[in-house]
Amino acid sequence: MFPSPHHDVAAYALGVLDEEDHEAFQRHLMTCEECQIELRELSEVPGFLDGLRRDRSNSMDDGRMSH
Ligand SMILES: [Zn+2]
Repeated sequence: MFPSPHHDVAAYALGVLDEEDHEAFQRHLMTCEECQIELRELSEVPGFLDGLRRDRSNSMDDGRMSH
């Protein structure tokens, strides 16, 4: 599904990495311009991170807003 070694960018942006993977990716990120660009592009997608934050806060704040 993600043949590239840089696939963790999306998972990192989603905040779904384990602490260990998160730290490993941060180290990778410092050395990988490609991932820095991709992370910036992901963060600029309108609604992408907002949608994720909404999903995550929904599960913490179950049903108050949406149902
Ligand atoms: Zn990379």
